[in-house]
Amino acid sequence: MDNYLEALLLNMLFLFVFLLFIPHVVETNLKNLSSKKKKIIFLAAAIVAIISCMSFPFRIGNEIIMDLRSVAIIVGGLYLGRQASVILVGVLLIYRLYLGGLGSGFYATLIVSMIVLFFLILLVNVFEKATKKKKIIIACYISLLTNAFVLIVRSTIFNQPFSSLLMAASTFLLLHFLSTFFIVYFSEVIRETVFVNKRIIKAEKLEIVSHLASSISHEVRNPLTVVKGFLQLLNQNDLPEDKRKRFIELSLQEIERANDIIRNYLTFAKPAPEKSEILDLKQELNRSIEVITPLANMNCVKIHTEIDIFYLIGEPQLLQQCFINIIKNCIEAMPSGGNLFIKTEEINGEILIEITDNGKGMTNEQLLRLGEPYFTTKGREGTGLGMMVVLKIIEIMNGKLDVTSNINEGTQFKIYLPKNVENYKKVTSV
Ligand code: ADP
Ligand code: MG
Repeated sequence: MDNYLEALLLNMLFLFVFLLFIPHVVETNLKNLSSKKKKIIFLAAAIVAIISCMSFPFRIGNEIIMDLRSVAIIVGGLYLGRQASVILVGVLLIYRLYLGGLGSGFYATLIVSMIVLFFLILLVNVFEKATKKKKIIIACYISLLTNAFVLIVRSTIFNQPFSSLLMAASTFLLLHFLSTFFIVYFSEVIRETVFVNKRIIKAEKLEIVSHLASSISHEVRNPLTVVKGFLQLLNQNDLPEDKRKRFIELSLQEIERANDIIRNYLTFAKPAPEKSEILDLKQELNRSIEVITPLANMNCVKIHTEIDIFYLIGEPQLLQQCFINIIKNCIEAMPSGGNLFIKTEEINGEILIEITDNGKGMTNEQLLRLGEPYFTTKGREGTGLGMMVVLKIIEIMNGKLDVTSNINEGTQFKIYLPKNVENYKKVTSV
């Protein structure tokens, strides 16, 4: 009996590792992979799950020998589509042929496989658009129906009377049902978490964008006032030619500045495709600084930079959002003005970005709660989501954040990011 239990647990472990764990690791760690490549990995994992389950069958009572391959086929097929379903069933049949040769057992498997394939092809599209609850129902429904067929086919081909097997047959159905239920349920929970994280980051960005709007409009008003003054001067008839030229030149420069401010702001505000690319850290930092400069000016904060050239892989908008959130907090910690230092360097093969303010700092309790959702000391002005999003983005980029802070002295944020592009030219020339 122990051996059967061992094999059952082993089957479940295979399902867990190949259908849940590997897809989860791929989704969270290999985000740069195209969805096609990810699908190929998931398909390979499902194939390994089927082969592993079939290699370690177990017995219920004395009558039924079984394994949990159908869970892998149903879950794999439903999530990966029609083509993958055909491949999975093909692999199953070839491996069954290899294990047992051509015989009545093989034909039984063939009949059942065709039934599973029929259900999969019929329901894949419905499954794709279904809610979590419906997905679980669809998968469990297919599992129950196909396994009931398995029992019927077996009892006719092997001439086993159904009634004597009632206990074993119900256990057989229940085991499949429960395994399918848990695997689909946890797949959905994992997917949901990834989805919710993305939504939070997007929602928080809208918050930042609207916060920055007032400082941006203020900043755009300055060049406009300057241009207005010059135009009034140009209106005078007795203006010497060289002065006239100088005024026009300065007006154009101011208009250009207003244009830059609006353009940078809009580039940041605009939703970007979720695509990782090789990015230039210096450029992304400078863009973030440009977006936040109006707010710094409003608060009399001077930004000092010492930025080297580094390249890394990531989503430019996410990285900018991370920098802007931190810098915005630093500026808000210096309500009566101050200095903000932004510095980059390479340490132990990692890129270090240091952002330091000389603002009011944090107590140890505040420091410990930093990044906790809704933790804010700014009352109605704050959302308490900025640092949580910073931590999420750094986690997505496989980085690390260290914060040190002293009350009334200032705060230092140290962002460590992996140097995943050694040399830009080398990468592009390969
Ligand atoms: P919010 O800015 O909306 O309050 P955050 O998550 O961005 O939310 O920050 C949470 C809290 O952390 C802030 O309310 C503030 O008390 C503290 N904090 C963050 N950055 C700094 C900083 N540079 N200096 C002092 N306190 C900070
Ligand atoms: Mg904030």
